[in-house]
Amino acid sequence: LLGDDASLLDGLNPQQRIAVEYRGPALLIIAGAGSGKTSVLTRRVASLIDSREAWPSQILAITFTNKAAAEMRERVQALLGQGANGMWISTFHSSCVRILRREAEKAGLGANFSIYDSSDTRVTLKRIIKGLDADSLGFTPANASAKISKLKNELADADSYARNANMSDPQEVMFVEIFRQYTRRLRDASALDFDDLIGETVYLFRAFPDVAARYRRQFRHILVDEYQDTNHAQYSLIRELTRPVTAALAEDMEAQGLHVRNLQDATGAIPGASLTVVGDSDQSIYAFRGADIRNISEFERDFPGAKVVLLEQNYRSTQNILSAANAVISHNFDRKDKKLWSADGPGEKIVGYTAYSGHDEAQFVADEIEALHATGTAYRDMAVFYRTNAQTRALEEILVRAAVPYRVVGGTKFYERAEIKDALAYLIAVANPADELALRRILNTPKRGIGPTTETALLSFAEANEISYRQAMRDATALGLGPKVTGSILQFASLLDEAALKLDPENPAGVANVSEVLTFVLEQSGLLTGLRNSRDPQDEARAENIEEFIAQTKDFNRENPDGGLVDFLTQVSLVAAADDLDDESGTVSLMTLHTAKGLEYDAVFLTGVEEGLLPHQMSAGEPGGPAEERRLFYVGITRAKKRLYLSLAMTRAQFGDVNVAMPSRYLQEIPAELIEWKQSPGMANSRGGTQPRALNARRDGYGGGFNARGGGNRTDIPPGLPPAPKPKTEWANRITAQVRDNGDLTLEAGDRIRHVDFGDGRVNQVTGEGTKRIAHVQFDTSGAKKLLIKVAPIEKI
Ligand code: ATP
Ligand code: MG
Repeated sequence: LLGDDASLLDGLNPQQRIAVEYRGPALLIIAGAGSGKTSVLTRRVASLIDSREAWPSQILAITFTNKAAAEMRERVQALLGQGANGMWISTFHSSCVRILRREAEKAGLGANFSIYDSSDTRVTLKRIIKGLDADSLGFTPANASAKISKLKNELADADSYARNANMSDPQEVMFVEIFRQYTRRLRDASALDFDDLIGETVYLFRAFPDVAARYRRQFRHILVDEYQDTNHAQYSLIRELTRPVTAALAEDMEAQGLHVRNLQDATGAIPGASLTVVGDSDQSIYAFRGADIRNISEFERDFPGAKVVLLEQNYRSTQNILSAANAVISHNFDRKDKKLWSADGPGEKIVGYTAYSGHDEAQFVADEIEALHATGTAYRDMAVFYRTNAQTRALEEILVRAAVPYRVVGGTKFYERAEIKDALAYLIAVANPADELALRRILNTPKRGIGPTTETALLSFAEANEISYRQAMRDATALGLGPKVTGSILQFASLLDEAALKLDPENPAGVANVSEVLTFVLEQSGLLTGLRNSRDPQDEARAENIEEFIAQTKDFNRENPDGGLVDFLTQVSLVAAADDLDDESGTVSLMTLHTAKGLEYDAVFLTGVEEGLLPHQMSAGEPGGPAEERRLFYVGITRAKKRLYLSLAMTRAQFGDVNVAMPSRYLQEIPAELIEWKQSPGMANSRGGTQPRALNARRDGYGGGFNARGGGNRTDIPPGLPPAPKPKTEWANRITAQVRDNGDLTLEAGDRIRHVDFGDGRVNQVTGEGTKRIAHVQFDTSGAKKLLIKVAPIEKI
């Protein structure tokens, strides 16, 4: 099919070849992790262009992150040996923004609409909830936004929801009101939230068949990566884009000069675009955001005659890693069994590590990273995964101390910093005068004497006169406020108006670029100078961040000579967690398991493999929760190419509390022979204890009185975690038994105790309950300590 240029098929296995070469209306490539789904999709795009079956502009390829989009674009260009301008390779969100900005008028929006991120949404909801006194009914910005988002992902709006809601339930009535007000506020502010970007595009296509027809005509080949994580709204978008164009609409287009002749079939209609989707139902990890695996399982029903290709050979990982992944995922019900295999041989065993504490675990990770680095693995080829962001603290602390270069991917994002949000709010207020949220954010930032009372007065004034907040500011004189405040408001309003004028295409002085506008508002408002002159040491860092932000706008100007302010703001809004990655930086990447999807590293450290973290305790009550968590674990395992480390800590500090942790149930699903278990030196007999030394006592028999379960001089416990004997309870007990268990030691104030390391002391107080009881002890020579009674190596004397 590809004629003389067979290089596009080089190295592909027969199934992959079919996936690249098949031509037909619908193709489903379904395969496990690392089997080349993304690679095949990339080659398919290249082959469509190379064979001249499609112009680049006729291709729409959807990726899960902007970074993945950029990579795909680069690879396609490398494969073709030439640029392929005009291709749409982007995320669902980016594609939709592009469409909505173009069709703004029809969509009932200004082309300069703002995009609200989750914190904007929460601030808005907070105000609504406060205004409605809805917190008394249990509403919080977090739970309201989660519910609204879920509904929007199902393409429901406040009205459609209300029709099916039980309106005799006050909570339901209140929710409908919150949803309505939220919708209204966004509309008034000419703003869309993330979910709206998809939903509004679907509504646009449904309401304007001629608009839909233009995009159906344009995109002849639609390809979607990570299809298992599409939600209903995204699925509907794909459906809209792949429908045929009726003969009548096709003729209309022809009449308007949009050529369609070469696309029409015998009836004059334009057949639907060809659709290729790739996915792995075992990697569906976004159900909580409305992702629906049924989109995969029902693909064949929705697209009759679809070709299905299965890929089984894995090119990423060694067989040991794959066997572990296969074993774990086989415990999920209701799935098609598929076994990943590798031609690369078994490779190293997986390393399991039982740590005493989160710190000890972090120390192990840091030590191994250094050891791998010393033997030739680059930092950038290593990654540390965790289930929750809270786990980064211990890791970061130790990595900093060990001088391991690292970065937290998608942690607190640059654009989420308060000072950057302030600077951005200035730009948004310039671009979109209707955006009340942005205006109110900077109304008194930097301080210009406009307090909350004035802020509310402006709001009431705007509402009473049915004008925008911005207009209310311009009309501030009519409010009858004091002359000083009025002056401040007018000055602030004119600052923004002046900046907006600089963007007017008819401005005789020429249109200002993004960094010029930014510099102008920063100078005029005094925001940057204020931070520079502040005596608060934190403000120095904030000023530096703003300077970095200015530098970014300059980069943007350079890279996008035609890019305007709205383009810049769009780009900023759509930065997602994984986009934060920078391969060139030579640092170890730290990220959540969710962020890790689609990525690969030579060495992967999967930390916190404990009950409560993985599966996360929040998943326990959710239907399908533990199965989804297992998929998350599977995603984590399958990121590793050569080395995989699974670690857990016996105790973990969380929310200022120390908890005793149990090994994750998923660990015993991995065949014992695939893992080599190690444990904290402080917990093993063979190696001299460094930290936590306290636990040496268990094995070397120190203090024969320590005969709690597993304590004292037991020698029958193998070093490290026993390789998953069953049944589960016995297995779990033996692991926990490696740590002392003083669970039933009764202590009270005044008792004398002896500690392995700290010597003798007096108990001053006992706090907490059950497994979390803490003894506050004044040691005779070691000072005051707090000890978790359950695991502390102590005895009563
Ligand atoms: P995931 O499910 O994690 O998204 P995937 O199925 O998309 O994985 P890819 O990322 O495309 O898999 O491929 C995994 C690795 O295997 C990549 O490093 C890729 O370059 C390599 N690979 C894919 N196909 C081949 C092949 N035929 N020969 C050699 N290497 C290949
Ligand atoms: Mg992939």
